[in-house]
Amino acid sequence: MNAPLPRHITDTPANTYERVATISNEVAGKLAARLRAETQGEVLFSAADRGRYATDASIYQVTPVGVFVPRHAHEVPIALEICRDLNVPIVPRGGGTSQCGQTTGAGLVIDHSKHIRNVIQLDVEARTVEVEPGMVLDHLNAQLKAHGVWFPVDVSTSAQATLGGMAGNNSCGSRSIAYGNMVHNVVGANAWLSNGELMQLGNYGTSSGRAQQMGDFVKHLAQGLTPELEAHWPKVMRRVAGYNLDIFNNQNERPYTHDGSVNLAHLLIGSEGTLGLTKSLTLKLSDLPRAKVLGVVNFDSFYKAMDAAQHIVKLGDGTLTAVELVDRTMIDLSLQNPAFAPTIRTALIGEPEAVLLVEFAGANKEMLKPKMRQLVELMGDLGMPGSVVEMIDDTPQKNLWEVRKAGLNIMMSLKGDGKPVSFIEDCAVPLANLAEYTDELTQVFKRHGTKGTWYAHASVGTLHVRPILDMRRNGAAKMREIADEASALVRKYKGAYSGEHGDGLCRGEWIEWQFGPKINEAFTQIKQHLDPLNLLSPQRIVNPPKMDDTSLMRFGNDYKVIPIQTALDWRAWDVQNDPATEQTTAPGTGGDAAQGFAKAVEMCNNNGTCRKFDAGTMCPSYRVTRDEKHLTRGRANTLRLALSGQLGVEGLSNPELMEAMDLCVGCKGCKRDCPTGVDMARMKVETLHHYKAKHGFSLKDLLIAYLPRYARHAARWSGMLNLRNKIPLLAQLAERFTGLSAQRSWPTWQGQHFFNQGTQGVSKEAVLSADKPVVLFVDTFNGYFESSNAHAALRVLQAAGYSVHVASKNERGHGADAGHLCCGRTFLANGMVDKAREHARELIDTLLPFAERGIAIVGLEPSCLLTLRDEALVLGLGDSAHRVSEQALLLEEFLAREAKTGALDELKLHLKPADKAILLHGHCHQKAFGLMPPVLDVIRLIPNAAPELIESSCCGMAGSFGYEASHLEVSMQMAELSLLPAVRAKPEAIVVADGTSCRHQIEDGAARQAIHVAQLLSDHLKY
Ligand SMILES: Cc1cc2nc3c(=O)[nH]c(=O)nc-3n(C[C@H](O)[C@H](O)[C@H](O)COP(=O)(O)OP(=O)(O)OC[C@H]3O[C@@H](n4cnc5c(N)ncnc54)[C@H](O)[C@@H]3O)c2cc1C
Ligand code: SF4
Ligand code: SF4
Repeated sequence: MNAPLPRHITDTPANTYERVATISNEVAGKLAARLRAETQGEVLFSAADRGRYATDASIYQVTPVGVFVPRHAHEVPIALEICRDLNVPIVPRGGGTSQCGQTTGAGLVIDHSKHIRNVIQLDVEARTVEVEPGMVLDHLNAQLKAHGVWFPVDVSTSAQATLGGMAGNNSCGSRSIAYGNMVHNVVGANAWLSNGELMQLGNYGTSSGRAQQMGDFVKHLAQGLTPELEAHWPKVMRRVAGYNLDIFNNQNERPYTHDGSVNLAHLLIGSEGTLGLTKSLTLKLSDLPRAKVLGVVNFDSFYKAMDAAQHIVKLGDGTLTAVELVDRTMIDLSLQNPAFAPTIRTALIGEPEAVLLVEFAGANKEMLKPKMRQLVELMGDLGMPGSVVEMIDDTPQKNLWEVRKAGLNIMMSLKGDGKPVSFIEDCAVPLANLAEYTDELTQVFKRHGTKGTWYAHASVGTLHVRPILDMRRNGAAKMREIADEASALVRKYKGAYSGEHGDGLCRGEWIEWQFGPKINEAFTQIKQHLDPLNLLSPQRIVNPPKMDDTSLMRFGNDYKVIPIQTALDWRAWDVQNDPATEQTTAPGTGGDAAQGFAKAVEMCNNNGTCRKFDAGTMCPSYRVTRDEKHLTRGRANTLRLALSGQLGVEGLSNPELMEAMDLCVGCKGCKRDCPTGVDMARMKVETLHHYKAKHGFSLKDLLIAYLPRYARHAARWSGMLNLRNKIPLLAQLAERFTGLSAQRSWPTWQGQHFFNQGTQGVSKEAVLSADKPVVLFVDTFNGYFESSNAHAALRVLQAAGYSVHVASKNERGHGADAGHLCCGRTFLANGMVDKAREHARELIDTLLPFAERGIAIVGLEPSCLLTLRDEALVLGLGDSAHRVSEQALLLEEFLAREAKTGALDELKLHLKPADKAILLHGHCHQKAFGLMPPVLDVIRLIPNAAPELIESSCCGMAGSFGYEASHLEVSMQMAELSLLPAVRAKPEAIVVADGTSCRHQIEDGAARQAIHVAQLLSDHLKY
């Protein structure tokens, strides 16, 4: 929705841009109207849209006047012209992953990341590529790989960071010791100045016109400041503060150009959108390293690790590409994370206090092995023999780098209001002083009752560290005190206060401190020279606000949560923590007025990992729309704003909130992939509960939710109901009344279904006393619509020698139709939590006697069975829910587990070999619970079976989502991302998909019948 300016700009307290504060609704309205009239871009001026762009990965929040998402590059200067006419500042933005508030600003935010992201020209021979600013680094490198080259500024956010944003911040990667920072790797830039001129920036010697004029001006300034530059400019490679005045008088330990020439594009690098709007960048490419080896050095003290870095970098001679730190806290956090624990263990010798990841790269592994030997010898010479884990193979190296890259995110998963805060996290000091510096800063943290976790770039003296502070209480004051002491240390050790993440709001005020008043004045003059209108990101770098101005903060003094009574139990998030020990208080004691829901939502720190595009990961709705609104981060921000009353008094019943939730398919990709564990699927249930309580349920909601209740009656009318799939007019009528698309076939009702075919399996008494007992929970979908799956599961389990009891309301098994049980999933999906609780309670009460005997409860439909291990635990059903959840397994999990004990040896003898290729698509909830390996294991029980897992995200059907006419297009787009092309590519293969809706999507989209794994096994039984 693009409602025109629902609230007054001047209402926002976090408004330090005086000019913007005076912008009337009238001006903002004119701005929106002109953008709409003169461009085809998206013009987003609603309160929720503005709120979603008010934050980045920093602690700050400043609400913009509006957001513009240009569709074409030529629309950027049009927007610039309109802003100039109306005197509205501009804040350019890429992925919005800045940690210092660079992209939070009043004015018009221009989001380049959605459309302005093309490669303009690639010249492999010259090793250069020209790109638009919204291009994401990983996407560029994926395109370059085939040519054997890459852009080597490998920031940890490579999957989200745009080249324009990286240039804006002068970003630096883990391998900067070998390749340098952004400034060392940009050879040209085109940028729009605020007066509308397009400036072409490159070699100063050959420049002309406006660029040359600008170069002459900056040169003159630099020449007049030689003593100041030499006295105050940090001499380390990692200095990113201020403007690069030193292009004319190099101060960097790694000169910006290899031949000492001056490149005017370098003035733009690190300017944080304050000098020009980048139109394109020409980047210098490097050869892809052919081989890498990694030595992981284990240290028994942190100090020794820091002290060793200066010696290790001397092993360089061009092959050393990284020396990265992982400290004890990070090791422990990684060990606690099931996804990272196996990997980090491969790097450890005993229980080190820190490890350094030392990477060498070159033409082949053979030539690198001597480097590894030198490292081992060096450690011996330093008194640490036997401390190096040698990783020669690529896979373990790659896995360990993933853990290191996830470092910050791992750290941010701390629950409670105290969070690791970014403000002195990237000071750079000369390597010789690194040990002393880190030691003294650790003491500073201790004195302030907090602690910091250290990690990252030891090779260049830039270690990341974030003390834990509570920004809602005394955090801002502590921030100031710690920053004062840290800066004194940086000065003592002749370092750079801002060494990687930029200045933004939290380090802008330290620029003058770092460089002195004269250089600071030169920065002001550069700004005035290029942006005399002060239109581009005002009050950044020049004339910045105070870093501890709480009116600019996301959790400022006036941040308050609206009290609500939650439907689900969120108490696990309602805790506080001790900054020194990181111990958390008991669940429910955190003081959250929203009973823990707000604190769960606030776990999103805006780092933007959900903007990934890898198949198989969050977030499918973002992958097809590229909209901030349809991204996990956008949803979490909208929820936070709604819960804290920043979207008005409606709280969770705000329609703008529901719009943001609309395309969330509840896939739980975020539950698995979000580093801080934001589970948007669960949040959507809670939100729907509140929203529907006010706005009511539609016919479609009721039809879907109550399906388990009316299924047994409806099945009796199967013949008539199935006509809907045969007569288009009926389908169209049904669409009109229900909103369910006429273009979709509905699941076919079966007159004879699993539940009315007589008692199958053994009785309750029999299973309780059986030698090989198992309970089969047959859900609504497999029971009423695809009974053959339930029969197949029964057959396979019986063939394996199990006494199978089919869970039922009836004591003797399902027998009569009325015995069918339900987990409550369809009610949850529609926000009817109370009804879901009734069903889940009945199911759990029925299953409890089996669970108490340790009997496995096996289910077929992932979303139903896994409800027992997920939402059923937060429905207030007490200990019984936990006991049942411990025994609840998907069929494949159960079989895989049993196979390991030898219990399926007999079954294996009865399976005939596979004679076709097998493709496997995982249901989202299977993936979220890490359950694809057991499916693969179970398929491999079939002789000759070589299942191939399709790298896919959500199939797009997601329960009823894809059936809805309003979602049909998005649903098919999700399926087309990878699933359907993979299925079409193997026309002969059997397609296995355990999810009912996944099977329907595959049938609708690729005209192929996918089968449940139970069916596959049953089909391969010899008898
Ligand atoms: C978990 C995490 C890890 C990180 N790791 C690293 C790391 O390893 N190394 C590192 O250097 N940084 C790191 N960062 C910081 C951040 O990711 C990088 O600075 C990144 O390059 C920013 O890219 P972006 O597209 O998100 O830019 P944004 O945050 O959107 O913008 C960055 C700056 O560029 C400006 N800008 C954007 N587009 C334009 C344009 N077209 N014209 C003019 N100015 C523009 C913006 O105004 C802003 O000042 C990390 C951040 C997080 C959250
Ligand atoms: S939802 Fe998770 S991954 Fe996305 S920005 Fe928030 S914390 Fe990061
Ligand atoms: S549940 Fe899926 S669609 Fe919804 S926010 Fe998470 S990853 Fe995105």
